[in-house]
Amino acid sequence: MRILVVEDEASLARQLATALGHAGYAVDCAADGERAHILGHDEEYDAVVLDLGLPKMDGLTVLRLWREAGLAVPVLVLTARASWHEKVTGIDSGADDYLAKPFRMEELLARLRALIRRASRQVNPELRCGTLVLDPRAGKVTVDGAIARLTSHEFRVLSYLMHHPDRVVSQSELTEHIYAQSFDRDSNTVEVFVARLRRKLGPSFIETVRGLGYRMKADS
Ligand code: CA
Repeated sequence: MRILVVEDEASLARQLATALGHAGYAVDCAADGERAHILGHDEEYDAVVLDLGLPKMDGLTVLRLWREAGLAVPVLVLTARASWHEKVTGIDSGADDYLAKPFRMEELLARLRALIRRASRQVNPELRCGTLVLDPRAGKVTVDGAIARLTSHEFRVLSYLMHHPDRVVSQSELTEHIYAQSFDRDSNTVEVFVARLRRKLGPSFIETVRGLGYRMKADS
């Protein structure tokens, strides 16, 4: 899963990037509205954290332009404390949720998890595929109750597939959602991550659809 953080306050942007990285997300940062606008169009994100007061183009304008262009990515808006007006305008402009500054990082992470869950039509906080369980809250994966130790990239691949069950996900789509923009990408490595996941979790969970990609079965 990949997140765009749009925040011009450098120290807060760094804190967000660090916390999201620890939580298992690939993170891109934009420090102004124009950059955010471009990244939102060019890259594939699973959610966006969007500050409203930004240089070059304000956050509400960025959000409106994205929505007008049909971008459906879930957006969590950061608002000034007690500004009910900003919250209302933000939500009316296409935000999915808001959080007033200053906020607890735990709350931001919980709200992002909920946004991502809803966007992928998952009802339960834990994602399941038979005996395989991924808990985004703890960043934990278990098979038959036993903890599987995954690298951050393996976790991102599995998390993306489990958020999109019963759907064929191509290697290039996976590549878009597991790496930050600055990362030197190689779509062949997705194959390597999937091979390692099969070794660690068992061969049956991730199905290869020849020539198209990978698919995980939803829990029935
Ligand atoms: Ca700001």
